[in-house]
Amino acid sequence: MAEGSTTTLTSAWVIGWLRESAKVVGEHRQELIDLDRAIGDADHGENLDRGFSALMKKLDDGERPATPAAALKLAAMTLMSSVGGAAGPLYGTAFLRAAASLGDTEQVGPNEIAALLRAARDGVVARGKAESGDKTMVDAWTPAVEAADTAAGAGASAVEVLAAAANAAHAGAAATEPLIARKGRASYLGERSAGHLDPGAVSTRLILQAAVDAAGDHL
Ligand code: ADP
Ligand code: MG
Repeated sequence: MAEGSTTTLTSAWVIGWLRESAKVVGEHRQELIDLDRAIGDADHGENLDRGFSALMKKLDDGERPATPAAALKLAAMTLMSSVGGAAGPLYGTAFLRAAASLGDTEQVGPNEIAALLRAARDGVVARGKAESGDKTMVDAWTPAVEAADTAAGAGASAVEVLAAAANAAHAGAAATEPLIARKGRASYLGERSAGHLDPGAVSTRLILQAAVDAAGDHL
């Protein structure tokens, strides 16, 4: 743990995170569509894939965000304008708040990671007003934020903080299955929403796992 604890991540990591997110969202597109078909309107995978593909196009066409915050802001703006549905504004706000938490810093360490995840989660909550247990993406974000804080407080490295967050998001997403949705489209189903994973919680854990996988490539 001590070995990596001084290592920081840079804008190359953020861009890697966005590219890895686009890849996993593409790979899980159908799964997210199917999850959303069960308790929503079957568009979550399509919405997110469209947004991340638009982001990849900007990067492939030569956009070069100079700082970690600039990369997160580019993601925010692109997702907000191209994802649609509930998830577009929610992820857009998450990435925008994460960008704001970094300021001009070039070096993203364990504490900055914990702070940016918290800012992202707070953005989702500010925008969607969901609480823990409402069967939304907040049920993946909140345990991730708590695990990241604990790991950073214990002296974990940047990648270890991300891994702690991703593992907690995984468990949080899995735990949405028995819940009855109280926010978003799934809440229209009432008790019939129980017995299915929340699609947004699943996409959140995919995106947070992408952050870990990208960090491994940049350390
Ligand atoms: P829509 O519901 O408009 O079709 P999506 O299918 O893209 O949008 O996204 C659905 C996901 O958005 C849900 O699975 C849930 O995780 C998330 N979501 C919906 N409403 C809220 C909310 N108020 N707060 C947090 N997350 C929400
Ligand atoms: Mg939907």
